[in-house]
Amino acid sequence: MVKKMVSAKINGHAVTAPDSMNIIQAYWHAGFPRISGVGCLEGVCGSCRVMVRRVDSGKVTAELACQTMIEEGMQVQFLSFQTPKQHTYRLADFKNSWDVQSQFFDIFPEVSHCRHCGGCDVVCPKDIDVENGVGLAAMGRFREAGELFVECVMCNLCKSGCPEQIAPNQVGLFARRVTAYFHIRPSNLINRLEAIRRGEFRITR
Ligand code: SF4
Ligand code: SF4
Repeated sequence: MVKKMVSAKINGHAVTAPDSMNIIQAYWHAGFPRISGVGCLEGVCGSCRVMVRRVDSGKVTAELACQTMIEEGMQVQFLSFQTPKQHTYRLADFKNSWDVQSQFFDIFPEVSHCRHCGGCDVVCPKDIDVENGVGLAAMGRFREAGELFVECVMCNLCKSGCPEQIAPNQVGLFARRVTAYFHIRPSNLINRLEAIRRGEFRITR
């Protein structure tokens, strides 16, 4: 593929780089050795959150810099990492799954203020149905809610975009945790582990 040099602005700095590079590579290429807000470079860790505006577009979008190729005229601003509000709970403190639903709003009281504005959906770089996930958790449908957040990279953009300071990613993580905690393990797994414990299966190298 023929590389084309493009000019863009990243954090207010003029940058020229090949269009085969993503935003982070382009920033480094231009001589800015940024290391904060940069993580796995694979789109998994959610560290490199940026706001992006493209030429001829009035829209500003939230994206992951390592997953976004640099384009001519692009304007990019890295977002600083926000420390998420702490939601304190211990799975071992739930006596049973009934407890989970009755205590959900004690742990996440701000969820009851959800405006259903869709702000979290708009900013999510993984296209997760975030608002729906929050709504399902609020209804006690934790298994379904958790499934929606399987691809979540914990970038916190959904919290940044929420006017009620709800942390949907933390709600999603909670939903996944409680679902796993109260899930009865598959019987074949239990039987095999029990057989290993009895010494019926030897593990050899
Ligand atoms: S749900 Fe929130 S934290 Fe997870 S990927 Fe989407 S914006 Fe990022
Ligand atoms: S951005 Fe916040 S208030 Fe709006 S739908 Fe998402 S969780 Fe609800």
